[in-house]
Amino acid sequence: MRRLIAAAVLGMIVLCCAPYDRAADQPAGSSIEADILKHLDALQPELITVNQDIWTFAEVGLEEHRSSARLIGVLKKAGFKVTEGVAVMPTAFVAEYGSGSPVIGILAEYDALPELSQEATGSRKPAAGRSTGHGCGHCALGTASIGAALAIKEVYDKHKLKGTIRIYGTPAEETLIGKVYMLLAGLFRDLDACLHWHPGTKNRTYFSTSKAAVSAKFTFHGLAAHASGSPDKGRSALDGVELMNVGANVYARTRQGFEPHPLRHHQRRRAAERRAGDGAGLVLRAGQRSRRCREELRLAARHRGRRREDEPHEGHDADRHRLP
Ligand SMILES: [Zn+2]
Repeated sequence: MRRLIAAAVLGMIVLCCAPYDRAADQPAGSSIEADILKHLDALQPELITVNQDIWTFAEVGLEEHRSSARLIGVLKKAGFKVTEGVAVMPTAFVAEYGSGSPVIGILAEYDALPELSQEATGSRKPAAGRSTGHGCGHCALGTASIGAALAIKEVYDKHKLKGTIRIYGTPAEETLIGKVYMLLAGLFRDLDACLHWHPGTKNRTYFSTSKAAVSAKFTFHGLAAHASGSPDKGRSALDGVELMNVGANVYARTRQGFEPHPLRHHQRRRAAERRAGDGAGLVLRAGQRSRRCREELRLAARHRGRRREDEPHEGHDADRHRLP
């Protein structure tokens, strides 16, 4: 984890400093980089502590109060101007240093996932008294991002650089919520560039797109009955859920087989099932199904989501949560 954070911080710093290095009136890049590296050595103990704290807090989306406060505390101490609770999300924030153009954004994430409790060890070992955990290094995502900002701030002052460094504290990444509402609030509007990173198996820089998503929740209502004594009196809501699963999967495969679409290979669907009521001896009275349709482009995702909504069938009730 130590090497991972250092690599991420360095990668972002190199990207952030590149425009300045090329400017004729700025000091040579090598001098700036040397200062960054020196400052990173000094920052490392604090960054490792922040990472470990956020790992231990393991707060899920929109509940990352301690995690965001931990990052905000470090940024404030370093002299960043912080606006908390942006885009009507208490755990979202924007921290800024410097002024004028260019405005360089760096994204920080810090949300955990349910049922991923884990000790900080190399083998599977749930942490006592905690059900949540960081699945893919989100404790380090925010930590390394503020590390990059702090190191840039240091050379910014020393070398009298121009421009604005802005850290975006983006909650609820795992549920695809935080950045959407920050985008809708116009918080990214004046950026010249925005950088992000993610833990992986190798160090590299890349430029790519990700997937948009549309979510919909469908509730199926049936009739409860005793499964052994009077099964004929019941109608299982779970049957409806399963039929929808089969139908949606066949639809997806058929579409991929017959409908030429440049995006089809990039499409992903995630599904989750929930049941209201339980027990092997019960015909389920209500079942719930949520589907998320992901495409390269948001419009395409909305189009896919709508096609399913346009084909209602008896007994289902769509309670949709769609992007505005
Ligand atoms: Zn991730």
